[in-house]
Amino acid sequence: MGIATEAQQEHKASSESTAAEKKRWTLNDFDIGKPLGRGKFGHVYFSREKKSNHIVALKVLFKSQLKQSQVEHQLRREVEIQSHLRHPNILRLYGYFYDQKRVYLILEYAAKGELYKELQKCKYFSERRAATYVASLARALIYCHGKHVIHRDIKPENLLVGAQGELKIADFGWSVHTFNRRRTMCGTLDYLPPEMVESVEHDANVDIWSLGVLCYEFLYGVPPFEAKEHSDTYRRIIQVDLKFPPKPIVSSAAKDLISQMLVKDSSQRLPLHKLLEHPWIVQYADPSGVYKG
Ligand code: AMP
Repeated sequence: MGIATEAQQEHKASSESTAAEKKRWTLNDFDIGKPLGRGKFGHVYFSREKKSNHIVALKVLFKSQLKQSQVEHQLRREVEIQSHLRHPNILRLYGYFYDQKRVYLILEYAAKGELYKELQKCKYFSERRAATYVASLARALIYCHGKHVIHRDIKPENLLVGAQGELKIADFGWSVHTFNRRRTMCGTLDYLPPEMVESVEHDANVDIWSLGVLCYEFLYGVPPFEAKEHSDTYRRIIQVDLKFPPKPIVSSAAKDLISQMLVKDSSQRLPLHKLLEHPWIVQYADPSGVYKG
């Protein structure tokens, strides 16, 4: 890998004599290619690091917009957490730099783009595809939880697809390093577990709930507690008003797994390592961990 992480740069720098020698990325280190997409705070460009020829996605964020929305703190946390994670199903953050007006994030390039668009195109996924994705996300979350990181915002919009079809968790904006229980309200309503809707204490088991919601959406094309009004979604989440429509036809094993994840009492949710042994995952998930189509 041609690109040193911020941590590697720091380490290298500390072993060198002066801070002035410390390698800092600048825009001149990159050839900027076509725009890959536009986010709330800026744009993402296909880019090449000139020295190594390494392809990356350069995310350009405007400081003024970050300030206005008061998300600088959240961004700092995202960078701090994501740059330390190394997992095939977690998008790498190689480093960052900034100038007067902008902050630049050097990200792993996900060649097949947003999973959300794939899901919209297909309406819903096959059980084989859904199970392969759910298993790879469970492995990524086991890794995160082992590092005391809870994601808290697992949903299709935050997932990208790599060149081989592998899923990548991309957005750590709501993630948190946790050694104690949290009470903050965050994430998007449809994916929030009851304990976060009700603002009571929550822990890493919030990610099991969200993975259950995601699994349902993969198979049915809509999240389970969707409603016209916010207040109805709230109520449905709190009551765990879980219904399985007759169409599309989904195996009872998949429904069993979802029912074991969408449990109100967070301590009773199926642990992620047990999820990997569930008959539905064993039968349908591709053992290579990659959905090949
Ligand atoms: P974001 O600001 O993270 O929402 O990104 C805006 C859009 O840029 C996304 O919806 C993707 O289509 C694209 N994008 C972001 N990051 C990457 C990446 N690492 N690789 C490929 N495309 C990306």
